[in-house]
Amino acid sequence: MSIRKRYTGLIETYRDRLPVSESTRIISIGEGNTPLIQLQNIPRLIGKDVDIYVKFEGLNPTGSFKDRGMTMAVTKAVEEGSQAILCASTGNTSASAAAYAVRAGIKAFVLIPEGKIALGKLAQTLMYGAEIIQINGNFDVGMALVKQLADHAPVTIVNSINPYRLEGQKTAAFEIVDELGTAPDFHCLPVGNAGNISAYWKGYSEYARASENLKAVTDKRPVMCGYQAAGAAPFISGKMIDHPETIATAIRIGHPQSWDKAWNAQKESGGWFDAMTDEQILAAQKMLSQFEGIFCEPASATSLAGALQDIGAGKIPEGSSIVCTLTGNGLKDPDTAISQCKDTHPVTIDATLDAVKRAILDRM
Ligand SMILES: *Cc1c(COP(=O)(O)O)cnc(C)c1O
Repeated sequence: MSIRKRYTGLIETYRDRLPVSESTRIISIGEGNTPLIQLQNIPRLIGKDVDIYVKFEGLNPTGSFKDRGMTMAVTKAVEEGSQAILCASTGNTSASAAAYAVRAGIKAFVLIPEGKIALGKLAQTLMYGAEIIQINGNFDVGMALVKQLADHAPVTIVNSINPYRLEGQKTAAFEIVDELGTAPDFHCLPVGNAGNISAYWKGYSEYARASENLKAVTDKRPVMCGYQAAGAAPFISGKMIDHPETIATAIRIGHPQSWDKAWNAQKESGGWFDAMTDEQILAAQKMLSQFEGIFCEPASATSLAGALQDIGAGKIPEGSSIVCTLTGNGLKDPDTAISQCKDTHPVTIDATLDAVKRAILDRM
């Protein structure tokens, strides 16, 4: 019997490509190593010869990719002696910050827009015991406050303006290349603050450069495609917007913090940005659930919505390999899921063998 090494998180796995030393105390909850799932039914359904993979980041410890950045940011905050972390959040960053703060034994303060965060994310943040500060303003307003607070309180900001966040998040690109043996032709992502698309590009670029020396990995990099919600699409309008609106609350952002980095990823990779309507986003979310058995949150499905549109238009040609990042778990936002299925009425019948049998046979 062979004994496999226990998986202990992405910092241990990629420590030679991350800013840690032998003596660093690593704050991990086993994040990373998420499945890269090949879609089987959707390509057939759309009648296109494409390899679509989804990187299901909803299977991280707190249910979103934010854990990749948070393990790194909190590890460094603790190493630097910080006693408290602070973030503005549309929900997932606060859940992740709260969990990693618990693990580290430090305090987490989170600023969230009142009434605009999905139920699951609120439940998590409450359970982890973070100090929740609700504001009557949107994410962008919270973010601006957090940046000012850095000079007024002894706290470490763990939003993606913290460079360690992107360091952790770049490991998703490493995992994809390690698994496929090369980079995909196209990589599609939902874009809010634009930290994640910047982090993936950094990861792909570092691996591509490493191959010049090591011949160990590919020198190929994908075309990066960033998709925003139509009501919150500053990268499409080319300027910041003040009142972003979308059902995909995780990308309800009008002032992206990684503006220049994301434009750089788009330009260097030969990629593009586009906007998806809420209807397109919800349709893609439902399609993933009903044809592939994969339940992601609305914002996450923006990547697949964009990919399907651009495959249909031929912008992404047949024969391509495509990775779509599914940034968060569908359980994060049960309200939106249930309201999407409001036309589905479960039957209620007598609790008898006969009635149940009839109910099943009627529906075969
Ligand atoms: C944070 C988040 C995004 C947006 O990522 P950015 O790095 O801000 O562009 C998308 N989807 C989900 C589920 C998120 O939590």
